[in-house]
Amino acid sequence: MKDEMTLFQNHVSEKGLKRSVKRDRILHAFLKAKRHLSVQDLSDLVQSKYPEIGYTTVYRAMKLIVSSGLAEKVDFDDGVKRFERKVGREYHSHFICTSCGHHFEVFDKSIERLSQKLCKENTFQPQKHRLEIFGLCKRCH
Ligand SMILES: [Zn+2]
Ligand SMILES: [Zn+2]
Repeated sequence: MKDEMTLFQNHVSEKGLKRSVKRDRILHAFLKAKRHLSVQDLSDLVQSKYPEIGYTTVYRAMKLIVSSGLAEKVDFDDGVKRFERKVGREYHSHFICTSCGHHFEVFDKSIERLSQKLCKENTFQPQKHRLEIFGLCKRCH
């Protein structure tokens, strides 16, 4: 997590911004959470410990976290923008239940290997790839 904090600080100063304790707390909470968070989720999480940090501050910090490359947006087709940690995470797929919204991650290297093989065969330089499967979970079908 220390490397990620450093990467973020470099990004912040490149943007000509000053380091802020509030922003550091938000990043720390995001990195520690280990799940997909919307800005609202993150804001609730941060406010449970630091009630003085408002939603707008969290919103702006999240934008910076994404532009620094530490997080990326995940879209589960339910109108909620969520973010997940990007650095230091293994390749994984998302399974999303379209009925109850339950979602989980599956780690399987064979999908990643297949994608690499297909890219190679088609002389394609991949930037990102993730398998997202929408359907019904155990409880809903
Ligand atoms: Zn379900
Ligand atoms: Zn994920």
